[in-house]
Amino acid sequence: MPVRPVLIYPHPMLKSVAAACEYVDDEIRALAVDLLETMRHYPRTVGLAAPQIGVPLRLIAVDVTGHPKATVCHGPMVIVNPEVVTGEGSEIGREGCLSLPSITADVRRAKRIFVKGFTLAGDEVSAETSGFEARAIQHEVDHLDGILILDRVASPAEVFPRRQK
Ligand SMILES: [Zn+2]
Repeated sequence: MPVRPVLIYPHPMLKSVAAACEYVDDEIRALAVDLLETMRHYPRTVGLAAPQIGVPLRLIAVDVTGHPKATVCHGPMVIVNPEVVTGEGSEIGREGCLSLPSITADVRRAKRIFVKGFTLAGDEVSAETSGFEARAIQHEVDHLDGILILDRVASPAEVFPRRQK
């Protein structure tokens, strides 16, 4: 079951808090494959969270490989039960979201983060990252708490219509 439909706001699952994965089992690994394939199906998409494909579990995929804004890149990352510890700094950057296809928004995020969680083998993992990759991870972890970029903007003036291709 590869590419799955992406839920669009205001689907209620996008505003719900996702549950922790109790085990990393074959079901979670299959879900991770679908998450990656769905993310790669959409051009210029650098991350996706399980609730966006209709599964209310704490699992994210991020891959900023080749993105012009990326200064740090760990390649494709799938993190089970990710937790972000924010480090220093904050900056505003433009973000889009597959679940909000008609807008982009300027969102303030930590510049440097420490993220921890579990791999698909069930091992603990942690990584330090910054800039665009850190932004992508913070965006995806927000999805696990039902937080969208519209909830993060300082004012409506920071929301912009998305140019149609
Ligand atoms: Zn999003």
